[in-house]
Amino acid sequence: MTIEIIRCLADNYAYLIHDAARGETTLIDAPEAAPILATLKGKGWTLTRILITHHHNDHIDGVAEILAQAPAEVYGAAADAHRLPPLDHAFAPGDTLPGGAQVMDAPGHTVGHVAFYYPALKALFTADSLMTHGCGRLFEGTPDQMFDTIAAFAALPDDTRIYSGHDYARANLNFAAQYAPEPSALAARQAELQQLADKGLPTTGTTLESEKQLNPYLRCHLPAVAQAAGCPGADPRRVLAEIRRQKNNA
Ligand SMILES: [Zn+2]
Repeated sequence: MTIEIIRCLADNYAYLIHDAARGETTLIDAPEAAPILATLKGKGWTLTRILITHHHNDHIDGVAEILAQAPAEVYGAAADAHRLPPLDHAFAPGDTLPGGAQVMDAPGHTVGHVAFYYPALKALFTADSLMTHGCGRLFEGTPDQMFDTIAAFAALPDDTRIYSGHDYARANLNFAAQYAPEPSALAARQAELQQLADKGLPTTGTTLESEKQLNPYLRCHLPAVAQAAGCPGADPRRVLAEIRRQKNNA
């Protein structure tokens, strides 16, 4: 199985997972149709299914146009079916979907947000929950919900790769720098992001191990991070809430 990263709109990512043995291709989120259809055509892949992480327009707006040219089955959360495109299959957290995705509950950014974990690929598609070096804005959920979402991800194997819904890596890393990351890890990733930018390559797909070094929302339990957030000794949940509040005001 291979993962194809597709840039969409200004800063979104969509993902195609191609299983050559089964002749199946799964799309995760549909920000816009054109680049996704072009990738399918270029690769010679036939779309099998679309999985939706959450209801925001920049994750679903391409669904109807894609289906018109590449008929496929649409999967989304039953709890959010009222605000998603028409679903062929409504799932619940804990379900395993055809193609091997395990549905993980991931509230915080929205209350119905889910993530898709593929153990065979060592890949976690997080959209706007945990992001490269950051996390999504809390539009509907609470800091406690985002804390629990991220804690569940942190329990996955450290070599799991995190594929998020946006290219916010550089801005997130600039913000993360104030929460006491290990200096050499920070410098190495800053240099790597510059190289990726120079080559026009995507920034998504960091490992959980790397995120545990750099992403402040995965480091709320560390005394140095609580100190840097201005709440020394505070409960990790409060530290996350404070860092997210500071990001909103940054
Ligand atoms: Zn969103």
